[in-house]
Amino acid sequence: MKYLSLIVVFLFSIPCFAQLALEAEDPPNKKELPYFFKSKIEDIESELNDVKSGKVVQIATSPGNRPVYAVYYGDKDQFDSQANYNSAVAARNPVFYARKSESTKPVIYFLGPVHGHEIEGQVGLLNLIQIAETGKDHRGREWPLLKQAIEKCRVIIVPNGNPDGLVRCPYDSFVGLPGETMTKYGQGTRPDGSLWRWPQAKSLHPMKGEVGILGAYFNDDGINMMHDDFFFPMAKETEAILKIARDEAPDMTVSLHSHNQPPCVLQAAHVPVFMKNRVADFAEKLNSHYKNVGLPYMTYDWLSANLEDDPEFPPKKSFNLVSALHHLSGTMSFVFECSHGTINEKDKAPIVSYDGILDVQLHLYEQMFQYLMNNRLYWE
Ligand SMILES: [Zn+2]
Repeated sequence: MKYLSLIVVFLFSIPCFAQLALEAEDPPNKKELPYFFKSKIEDIESELNDVKSGKVVQIATSPGNRPVYAVYYGDKDQFDSQANYNSAVAARNPVFYARKSESTKPVIYFLGPVHGHEIEGQVGLLNLIQIAETGKDHRGREWPLLKQAIEKCRVIIVPNGNPDGLVRCPYDSFVGLPGETMTKYGQGTRPDGSLWRWPQAKSLHPMKGEVGILGAYFNDDGINMMHDDFFFPMAKETEAILKIARDEAPDMTVSLHSHNQPPCVLQAAHVPVFMKNRVADFAEKLNSHYKNVGLPYMTYDWLSANLEDDPEFPPKKSFNLVSALHHLSGTMSFVFECSHGTINEKDKAPIVSYDGILDVQLHLYEQMFQYLMNNRLYWE
């Protein structure tokens, strides 16, 4: 009996899922990635081992028994908080939650992929940590504006919010692969092999039971952190992600994602209109910057459409993680969708290269810092 319980303890202390094996029809995983393309689970540990000027904290342990980390740069200012955010808003001034003035640093929160296979955000953030430490990305390229901005702000970086999904994903990059391959391992399959796809992959949550391949969207418990129960979080990772916003009062927060299209900003559905206008303003500035530096981008017809609430039943917009982050902290929160570099069906060419993915990420961060410093909201 004693040995049996030891075996049970051992079984429950090892990760529930390991990397999935590719099936016969799947294209191979490219082994030779550029050195700067830091998309693997072991890249997180090795980057964080070299952190000297920042502070590394394990913020959660995933159901697969894997650590989730945050890296902090710049000392935290005292905000004289005497109320939580929504109570402060009800008292007609967020200053009761956080006093933000010219004497407090801007706070910026980079949330890496909560969808484990959307590794482009991790690649960007591990290079951002390298820039914070050395001034250069992993290609050796200098980013003086980013380095200076990091030194003026309180910066919180979660390189990857979903290590379980990352480990299960059998691809270290989707550059040059068909979008269908990403969809298969991203959102997963049913037992008959059919793809769950977007948005049906959200119709079963937790994703348990009717599952062939458990997509990297989910942690090992089948939770998609974008659509956790924010008043009763099912995942420890979600809880930790929310707690950072509650404790840090970030001025700006991005949740990094990727899709099969050119890069774009997506609005949080359920935040005040003044905040949606700010996000739309930032998105337009980011677009014109991408245009100027020759990076791909998407146009923004839906940004103005998204300013309105759902006019009819059934609602199309959910109160997801980025909406929740705003309501906990007043942060300007949005989703950024990078391109995976999958091939478009027409000309079979990847939308972005490995270099392009890193540039899309680093230019996004640079523009975020710039927007934040030029457009601060003071709460006094
Ligand atoms: Zn995503």
